[in-house]
Amino acid sequence: MSNIKVRFAPSPTGPLHIGGARSALFNYLFAVNKQGQLVLRIEDTDLDRSKREYEQEIIESLQWLGIKWNEGLGAGGPNGPYRQTERVSIYQEYAQTLLESGQAYYCFCTEEELEQERQELISRGDTPRYLGKCRFLSDAEKEVKISQGIKPTIRFQVPANKIYIVDDVVRGRVSFESDSIGDFIIQKSDGLPTYNFAVVIDDVLMGITHVIRAEEHLSNTPRQLMIYEALNFKRPAFAHISLILGSDRQKMSKRHGATSLIQYREMGYLPAAMFNFLSLMGWAPEGEEQLLSPPEIAGAFSLERVSKSPAVFDMDKLNWINQQYIKKLDLKELANMVKPFLDDSPYAGSVSRMSQEKYELMIATVRDHLVCLSDITREVAVIFDNIAYESETVQVLQGEGVAGVLQTFAEEFPDVETPEDIKQHIKAVMKKTGAKPKNVFMPLRCAVSGKIHGPDLPSLISIWGKEETLNRIDVALQMINKGN
Ligand code: GLU
Repeated sequence: MSNIKVRFAPSPTGPLHIGGARSALFNYLFAVNKQGQLVLRIEDTDLDRSKREYEQEIIESLQWLGIKWNEGLGAGGPNGPYRQTERVSIYQEYAQTLLESGQAYYCFCTEEELEQERQELISRGDTPRYLGKCRFLSDAEKEVKISQGIKPTIRFQVPANKIYIVDDVVRGRVSFESDSIGDFIIQKSDGLPTYNFAVVIDDVLMGITHVIRAEEHLSNTPRQLMIYEALNFKRPAFAHISLILGSDRQKMSKRHGATSLIQYREMGYLPAAMFNFLSLMGWAPEGEEQLLSPPEIAGAFSLERVSKSPAVFDMDKLNWINQQYIKKLDLKELANMVKPFLDDSPYAGSVSRMSQEKYELMIATVRDHLVCLSDITREVAVIFDNIAYESETVQVLQGEGVAGVLQTFAEEFPDVETPEDIKQHIKAVMKKTGAKPKNVFMPLRCAVSGKIHGPDLPSLISIWGKEETLNRIDVALQMINKGN
């Protein structure tokens, strides 16, 4: 094992969305590729928005996707606890250190005062920021504020006139001027740390060597660099991965469809397909091959091949990948995987009465049409729904000689009814009636399914079996007779 260590540090304020899943995945891939370790840390200091249910859902989503972590929530490790709300005293100690060294100070400003300062700066066309009003309070002034019951925050004193540079592994060199950043809060008045403070303390104490996260955190990085510097901490490497855009090149949002990983699971996307698809969002392997297994992806992964430009969420590509994975599944496995979708459908009763053999034949017959597992309900509708003749099929059925073909087909319907038996029987009907293949297949398909197109006909008939097929032929014959 190398000393490389990365982390995924979600805030449990909602389900794991596509962007978060991609960040987790890139961390995982990097760790596996470098034989390093992945830590899962929960950043739950926003008490109003953080929820245990979300934490659980995030963990389940990660597990479903196939991401494993070596340390952190659920895995244990020497640097716990791994929930930030359980580490508050640690952050407070470091905030104290900064107070003592004069790099941080208590701030007693009220919301109103801060808002007033903001408005003034905005009206002057200046960047709104804290200008350091409480920096120079005397001890006596502080005493007064405390005796008034004001609970202070702790602010970090931003060094003046400095340039902070980060050589980001993905974005290259990025620099920030300290003067555009006001003294920022590191500890809130309730004693909890802010994100920019806690993240640094944790990354250092947990031995993180590479911070791989979403681009939206790039603007937080200078504040974090200041904390590293003030506490004499060694910085990790940073890699900010690009935004994910919808197909219209706007930031991915609910407008673009499902945004959380759980929704994709519910629609019946396979975890390995999702893993494959997400890995290609902003990263590309060297060759042309797009379908790669998790170990192949991890083996080929490198941050150097992660693109700076935004990744576009291409639903067609996801669908294509998923379809390829479904095609590769073993039939029994696929039959098990689609079962919950059928159990939840209007066809549950009919499905439960099928023999295992017929059930698997049904799945085999429609599998090539499945883009995702939930499509199963649509694809088996032709098997279970009552026949509704499309207008085109009515025309076909009223063609010359059709009734005779159907009757012959019904009369000598075999007792053994595998798709192969049915095929042989259809051939026999052709011979007997002298009709051309298309004049047998098409009317027969229209008669039994009511549709012009559909899955393999002998298989369909075999799934129905003799009784149901003959009933269907009867219905068709009655319709033809009525029409004449
Ligand atoms: N808790 C932050 C988030 O969910 C993580 C930021 C980071 O990775 O540093 O966005």
